[in-house]
Amino acid sequence: MTKKTRKILLLPGDGIGPEVVAEVKKIINWFNKNRSLDFKMEEDLVGGASIDVNKVPITDEVFYKSLESDAVILGACGGPKWDNLEFSKRPERALLKLRKELKLFANLRPAICFKQLVDASTLKPEIVSGLDIMIVRELTGGIYFGEPRGIEPIENNERRGVNTHTYTSSEIHRIAKVAFDLAKKRKNKVTSCEKSNVMEAGILWREEVQKVKDKDYKNVELNHMLADNCAMQLLRNPKQFDIILADNLFGDMLSDEAAMLTGSLGLLPSASLGAKDKNGKIRSLYEPVHGSAPDIAGKNIANPIATIMSLSMALKYSLDLPKESDLLESAVQNVLNEGFRTKDIMSVGKKELSTSQMGDAIISKLK
Ligand code: NAD
Repeated sequence: MTKKTRKILLLPGDGIGPEVVAEVKKIINWFNKNRSLDFKMEEDLVGGASIDVNKVPITDEVFYKSLESDAVILGACGGPKWDNLEFSKRPERALLKLRKELKLFANLRPAICFKQLVDASTLKPEIVSGLDIMIVRELTGGIYFGEPRGIEPIENNERRGVNTHTYTSSEIHRIAKVAFDLAKKRKNKVTSCEKSNVMEAGILWREEVQKVKDKDYKNVELNHMLADNCAMQLLRNPKQFDIILADNLFGDMLSDEAAMLTGSLGLLPSASLGAKDKNGKIRSLYEPVHGSAPDIAGKNIANPIATIMSLSMALKYSLDLPKESDLLESAVQNVLNEGFRTKDIMSVGKKELSTSQMGDAIISKLK
């Protein structure tokens, strides 16, 4: 029988990106060798690394490669070297372009507190132990993309900065459906966040999410919550949540906050999914929640688990390999159970590993 070929595009990017993606590469090679899978890996430049060579954060060629891949796994973009560039030419624009052009409108960020790492959280163990939240963030609309935008001179030597927050009902419907569909596979509960007390777009968000629930998801529990209250509740009693649904801006902030409940940015993966194309293929981009961490880049101390867990999400959502996804997740759990840690999650009595040693330890548990 011929093996099914799955194309994975790796875009390591900047800072610790290449270090953590190197561990993913080792794992994909392990799967090819030991599970008779046929992953075809390609690697290319993105972000500052692409600017240095090609003068742009992502070339058309790399962009088309991403269209042809079954999954794209990205490390991180950006760093101080490129901070003085004009906004539209910065490394992070590559990410915005990929998200926008691949129409990746749904960002899934799990915030799971591994019981082995409960002490790494700044919150009390009883508040976070066993935490399992999924944040569903709208990714292609709202204030990060709305027009008009810009900085303009006004009278009296002043300047004015403008961004526009805008959503249509169909944009809200499609992201709400993603949240409700996921809820059915989890604890059947969605909390939708907005600022309907001060924003018309927030009122629209609340009404349209409710409409989707009333029409097609009668059995899913839906609560509406103001986004600032949600930020507070995440610290007070995070286990009350199952799925948090939010727009681009609030989802950005709430997911970073939820990330820290779990102790380290180095542990959190994310998936960005688009609509199905006519062949039933869902466009997707997988990346760790963290950035390029310039402060620790090049030292072989970054935690590769977030990127490895991003591969695990890709195996589940894009590559049709749920068993391999579970296998990889258990391998990570087993390594943590045995007390192995990278520097960011190190505590007394545990054994500290470098980035590459952590990758090797996880591979040894796959065997
Ligand atoms: P960051 O996530 O890069 O780092 C924040 C802190 O967390 C740092 O102290 C860092 O050392 C630590 N950290 C992050 N990932 C870690 C890991 N895997 N292991 C151990 N420690 C880790 O955020 P920042 O410092 O605000 O941003 C740095 C650069 O990254 C900026 O240029 C920013 O624009 C960019 N950025 C990119 C993305 C992305 O590519 N998706 C996301 C966020 C920030």
